[in-house]
Amino acid sequence: MRVMKEYRIVSREAQPTDTVVRVRGVPIGGETVQIIAGPCSVETPEQMALSAAAVADAGCRLMRGGAFKPRSSPYSFQGLGVEGLDYLQQAAHQYGLPVVTELMDVRMLDTFLEHDVDVIQIGARNMQNFDLLKEVGRINKPVILKRGLAATISEWLMAAEYIAAGGNHNIIFCERGVRSFETAYRNMLDVTAIPVLKKESHLPVIVDPSHAGGKAWLVPALAKAALAAGADGLMVEMHPNPCEAWCDADQALTPAELKALIGELRPLAQAL
Ligand code: PEP
Ligand code: MN
Repeated sequence: MRVMKEYRIVSREAQPTDTVVRVRGVPIGGETVQIIAGPCSVETPEQMALSAAAVADAGCRLMRGGAFKPRSSPYSFQGLGVEGLDYLQQAAHQYGLPVVTELMDVRMLDTFLEHDVDVIQIGARNMQNFDLLKEVGRINKPVILKRGLAATISEWLMAAEYIAAGGNHNIIFCERGVRSFETAYRNMLDVTAIPVLKKESHLPVIVDPSHAGGKAWLVPALAKAALAAGADGLMVEMHPNPCEAWCDADQALTPAELKALIGELRPLAQAL
């Protein structure tokens, strides 16, 4: 039984073969597994230089880092903004790593394009910001579409359809856990969503075990579960010094933990 019948372009019927989204030559989807890693937030040039070195050393081919942060409290660090985009790009370019960063406001889209952001992340809180989805649908940059805090899979597919309907088919789903009754961890990782999306859509699916677990020690178990269930990749938070992180300190892996995790995942992934 289909989840719903209104999505078209993103549906498996529209395209039986798996879509491979290429980010500056790095394939996401198909036969490969890609790990995107980096800090929750861009903080300083030094922190970014250490992060980029650690991401590259672990063998990851893409780097993440938030310059615009969707914080629950208006009094929390909101991200460095445009300055953060500069630090992210400068650090990542040293190692030839394409960058992933979150776009929260449609008014910043041109700035993101000017800064040559490689992958635009639409965060959980904006999964149904339809104006934002329409705008990123008009460009051809790859988009990571995170699952809304309590979004159903059909709502998520329709959000992707909004982007695709504008002409941009370079969409990657990212499962990051959903809100549940459980308080022992941050969000409940919906492993079942991975095969459901794969059945319903031809688009790649990655998993963010960091925002799901909310604790660094949970990340390896969730990462393994994701790959075992067929995810095309992961997005993992890593900080050169997690205790000092300005945002999401509890869930950040150290560089050594990231490297160890990649080693543990290798048997589960064909092409790490
Ligand atoms: C993030 O990846 O930095 C983030 C804020 O995640 P989410 O939108 O999934 O909460
Ligand atoms: Mn975070």
